[in-house]
Amino acid sequence: MDFLKASTLEEKLDLIQTLAGPFSERAAANDLEGRFAFENIQDLKETGYTKLTVPQNYGGGGISLYELVRLQEAIAVADGSTALSIGWHMGILMHLSETRTWNGQLFERICRAAAGKAALINTCATEAQTGSPTRGGMPETTATEKNGEWVLNGRKTFATMSPVLDFFIITATIPKKEAVGSFVVPRETAGLSVVETWDSIALRATGSHDVVLENVKVPLANLAEIQTKKKEPAGYLLHIPACYLGIAEAAKREAARFAKSYTPNSLNHPLAELPAIRQKFGEIELKLMQARHFLYSVAKMWDEAGAEQRKEMGPELGAAKMAVTNHAIEAVDLAMRIVGARSLSEKSPLQRYYRDVRAGLHNPPMDDAVLMQLGARV
Ligand SMILES: Cc1cc2nc3c(=O)[nH]c(=O)nc-3n(C[C@H](O)[C@H](O)[C@H](O)COP(=O)(O)OP(=O)(O)OC[C@H]3O[C@@H](n4cnc5c(N)ncnc54)[C@H](O)[C@@H]3O)c2cc1C
Repeated sequence: MDFLKASTLEEKLDLIQTLAGPFSERAAANDLEGRFAFENIQDLKETGYTKLTVPQNYGGGGISLYELVRLQEAIAVADGSTALSIGWHMGILMHLSETRTWNGQLFERICRAAAGKAALINTCATEAQTGSPTRGGMPETTATEKNGEWVLNGRKTFATMSPVLDFFIITATIPKKEAVGSFVVPRETAGLSVVETWDSIALRATGSHDVVLENVKVPLANLAEIQTKKKEPAGYLLHIPACYLGIAEAAKREAARFAKSYTPNSLNHPLAELPAIRQKFGEIELKLMQARHFLYSVAKMWDEAGAEQRKEMGPELGAAKMAVTNHAIEAVDLAMRIVGARSLSEKSPLQRYYRDVRAGLHNPPMDDAVLMQLGARV
């Protein structure tokens, strides 16, 4: 199985289907134990999935944003934690390929590692005191230039995939410049440690632990970029709503399986034939259709837009994220109403979907920020 050899999106989706069975079988145990989805991420590495957003000239697949959201959604149907985890790696590489804001040699090094040994990357931007970096707070993690190296000190929270990352992109304040830089820190660097703090009830298999940096030294060339004050719209973040849409689709399928197989002794037909239940499925389907059309069309719009048009797409991207995520939350809720109290059983995947889908509210951009942006445009 090799994703790089699959030439069409349909072929790639078929490959996801082959991986999906084991992913969903592992999901319940990983969730129960709060264990990182090691095997799933390994499968995605071995099959070349993690190389799909590396530019083709560095040996990757160079796929489009539309393809990425379709594939990420399909992974999330099997396991939301795996989708969100790998989505960061996939999206960041896509973003850097599009913007080329990094120092060129460093970008090439990361791409070659991602395309060669399937190295994994993610950004650690959140801290306890800044909260979401989208709010504009300066990191309390610092980077100081000393004896021809950068020395980093601080602590990051919510570092998804921290158990297996090869490269951590650490945002840090450079006090001398009063600026924020992004620094690439290889996993084996002395002074970097992962502290296993991830106790969230949602997406428990993402390994989103704390990362501590104690006098971490990296070469000057590992400063990837200095962040600009103005944040440009970033299409790759649509991997986030794709994840929650996939979770909602899984909830719908589980409710349908139940409604077709359960005939209470007060009825002479399965639950699925009750008009009230059928209407609820109709509501779910409507929400998911709206979500899909919105997500896919904004992703395609991004793929077709030039650099200047993309700068104007912030409201569309934010609106798609907010609408899809909230529709997904509502769809999971409806699926649980269909199944009834059994949906709250520890054995039911629905209670996991219910917890997992809520995490979407706390991934960027947050609803209030989206609405403010839309309001400002009006
Ligand atoms: C499953 C999961 C995976 C994640 N993975 C990563 C990752 O890999 N890397 C990473 O860097 N981060 C990651 N995050 C962190 C995420 O991006 C957010 O930074 C984090 O969820 C904190 O957001 P928050 O809104 O809860 O926190 P806060 O920003 O602290 O907000 C708390 C509350 O205060 C409000 N608030 C705070 N500041 C303002 C303000 N200025 N204006 C208005 N309201 C404000 C918020 O609306 C919210 O209600 C992940 C989060 C989750 C849930």
